[in-house]
Amino acid sequence: MEATVSAGTHGASEPLDPASHARGLFCNRTLNLRTIRAIGYDMDYTLIHYHVALWEERAYAYIKNGLVAQGWPVEDLVFDPDLVTQGLVMDTELGNVVKANRFGYIKRAFHGTTLMPFDRLRDTYRRTLVDLHDRRWRFMNTLFSLSEASIYLQLVDLLDAGKLPARLGYDDLYATVRRTLDEAHLEGLLKAEIVADPDRFVDRDPEIPLALLDQKRAGKKILLITNSEWEYAAPMLAYAFDPFLPGDMTWRDLFDLALLGARKPAFFSERAPAFEVVNGEGMLRAINGPLEEGRAYVGGNAALVEASLGLRGEEILYVGDHIFADVKVSKSVLRWRTALILRSLEDEIAAMDSFRDEQTQLHAMMAEKEQMEARYSALRLERQRNAEGYGPQTERSVKKLDAKMRALRADLVALDEQIAPLAQAAGRLVNPNWGPLLRAGNDKSHLARQLETSADVYTARVSNFLHYTPFVYLRSHRGSMDHDVFSLHGESTRNGQR
Ligand code: IMP
Ligand code: MG
Repeated sequence: MEATVSAGTHGASEPLDPASHARGLFCNRTLNLRTIRAIGYDMDYTLIHYHVALWEERAYAYIKNGLVAQGWPVEDLVFDPDLVTQGLVMDTELGNVVKANRFGYIKRAFHGTTLMPFDRLRDTYRRTLVDLHDRRWRFMNTLFSLSEASIYLQLVDLLDAGKLPARLGYDDLYATVRRTLDEAHLEGLLKAEIVADPDRFVDRDPEIPLALLDQKRAGKKILLITNSEWEYAAPMLAYAFDPFLPGDMTWRDLFDLALLGARKPAFFSERAPAFEVVNGEGMLRAINGPLEEGRAYVGGNAALVEASLGLRGEEILYVGDHIFADVKVSKSVLRWRTALILRSLEDEIAAMDSFRDEQTQLHAMMAEKEQMEARYSALRLERQRNAEGYGPQTERSVKKLDAKMRALRADLVALDEQIAPLAQAAGRLVNPNWGPLLRAGNDKSHLARQLETSADVYTARVSNFLHYTPFVYLRSHRGSMDHDVFSLHGESTRNGQR
């Protein structure tokens, strides 16, 4: 990623402690927190982080049970938390999960649970780019997608083996998984398990309530805007927040407005009515007029929030983990400022840090390779001109040039043999099947591109705001394009031309 840390976790004036890099707030687009008058928070995987493998294993179990109830022979399937990661894309037409780079070119794919060999990958996607406007592609927006995508790949194996009804296509298979997971989320049994044992499922972060309290006392309105319903959100927030708030303050006192069952992304673009929650059991009352501070509502919409608080879009920061529903839509429709919570960034940064020496070596070898290739190209052109007798001629015979080229090619092959294992190791960092989330080979991944275009800032967890204070001015760094590689002395380090 190009973005850099804008302030250390120990204050903007002190140098950044490398150990705190993973807790940084990273900035794509300059954001002055002093001009922000309201901060809205998503709940699941934003204010409340779950133990992903445990939560998704339960979601997976519910999908599996739903399929068993439909008569599918899936009793023996087992959830594999490493099979897929957030930020990949499901190809529901071909039964694949793919990783694309920032332009949508597919760099790696699994058909079912098997990695596609390079030749097959190239033949399959020769003329195909990932285009998320097309329903064929399903972007894995959040950590809630892991159970769905991993059972989908396992079912593709069963379908290919003739163990599922033959009339099913890969897209029907996806539709069935989606519907079954939706039912699991909605019917309440899965959520009831979580509410009954939050200690097991929630990775509680005691610094988050303090970060929000700082922001509130600094004069900002603190909003909760979650798709979760009252019956789930209320006990979960009580568990995650109340023990860490001062005195007898509760999460209800912290949020100036709480909107539950918000139906994002429609929340940002449509005008659904809001209903006030009038008691702890979640009884509702229709309202007429603006939202009132200190109250909780079900439904509602972003325009109503703006009107009720008397704020313009650019005065509101929305913080969420869902790339599309939380961050892309709020920005594109309303120009709210946006922050993406990407917990996997901690693993990503740790993996990159541990690979730093190898990366330096890799970088040096690639620079050497570029220079050798440039020399080879120059020799080849010299040979062409000498052989065909046009353009500037040199003393060296074609035979001599051929010998030089052969020697250089042998050196290049030897260098490639040294590069290959390091490049392969880089491609296995973070996740053995998919590599780093934000990179695709040497380029940025599709996830990285989404993150750059929609999130003004991004960070691994909400509590990282704590160390930056509610008054921080986050500045984006000069973007880098290929021509920016020129050094201060005007020398290019690219293509071996110095
Ligand atoms: P939020 O992130 O706080 O807006 O809440 C996300 C809500 O969406 C949680 O209540 C999840 O249970 C729910 N959710 C996540 N994935 C799915 C899905 O695939 N189908 C239906 N609901 C989902
Ligand atoms: Mg969320």
